[in-house]
Amino acid sequence: MPAGAGGAVRSLVPGYEMQAPRDLAAALDLFAREPGVWRPFAGGTDLMVLLEAGKLPHRRYVNIWNLRELRGIDETATHVAIGSLTTYTDIRRHVTLQREFSLLCRAAGETGGVATQNRGTIGGNIANASPAADSPPALLVYDAELEIVSSRGSRRVPYAAFHSGYKKMDLRADELIARILLPRGRDGWRSYYRKVGTRRAQAISKVCFAGALRLSMSGAIEDTRIALGSVAPTVIRATRCEGALRGRRLDAATITSAREILADEIAPIDDIRSTSHYRRTVALNLLEEFLCAALES
Ligand SMILES: Cc1cc2nc3c(=O)[nH]c(=O)nc-3n(C[C@H](O)[C@H](O)[C@H](O)COP(=O)(O)OP(=O)(O)OC[C@H]3O[C@@H](n4cnc5c(N)ncnc54)[C@H](O)[C@@H]3O)c2cc1C
Repeated sequence: MPAGAGGAVRSLVPGYEMQAPRDLAAALDLFAREPGVWRPFAGGTDLMVLLEAGKLPHRRYVNIWNLRELRGIDETATHVAIGSLTTYTDIRRHVTLQREFSLLCRAAGETGGVATQNRGTIGGNIANASPAADSPPALLVYDAELEIVSSRGSRRVPYAAFHSGYKKMDLRADELIARILLPRGRDGWRSYYRKVGTRRAQAISKVCFAGALRLSMSGAIEDTRIALGSVAPTVIRATRCEGALRGRRLDAATITSAREILADEIAPIDDIRSTSHYRRTVALNLLEEFLCAALES
């Protein structure tokens, strides 16, 4: 299916069309002129799997892979802004991300194999909206915001408000995710990331957990973020569990009550990869491991 550059329509796969606009403005113009007719095609790692399986009903795509405006990682005093076409390999190799946003680098390192990491993009991972995606829990922990663009301009959405249900998101047919903005200043937070799958390589998560917390001088939990994948119709932030932890001493009683609250807050399902019971058990164990590790570090 992939197309050449310069706006040409190519049809290398019978029944499918691909446009390759020369810049972002031309791409957004195309989406605006015929909303819903053209869909973005970034690294293609999700779309090509569907195509190969004969499950790609939508027929017209815009190749955004070459749009320079959606590439690059920029740093300001307050934020690190990641272009939506940034690949997992780019993320893993970026020194500031390694230093300040290590959970995202861990997630990138646990996503598929090298080929997928070289081609798969963070924007595609968000827009694909899988509840089992591995980067979104890290983005929730870091209070990420999305910058969304269209020919009408740009707007920002807190990532926590972006996915509203299974495969439902705050993205119109003429819009693209342009950048992911990560607020800086998380010094002193203790962080934890763990993906549990059938095996280490190329496995879709049964449960994915990202957490961070900051302890006060007295040893109480000053603030915390907890996010999980594969335990609900979307990747979720466990805000009730977070609320119950704030202000508490990190001891055995706190851990027991946090487990009880998280058990109520998640709604895992049975599917071909795992059972609801297994996912719930693992999620609670990962919470405990996160809290114990924070205590020891
Ligand atoms: C072998 C293999 C292993 C994998 N392992 C994992 C894994 O371990 N963990 C994991 O989370 N994922 C995994 N994936 C899934 C996939 O690699 C990721 O979801 C990837 O990040 C998708 O990015 P992409 O650029 O390839 O998206 P594409 O396939 O190009 O697009 C995916 C969807 O996003 C839309 N889209 C893309 N970019 C944008 C944008 N900027 N704005 C709006 N919409 C957009 C497209 O229209 C499409 O609907 C795996 C895939 C494969 C093939």
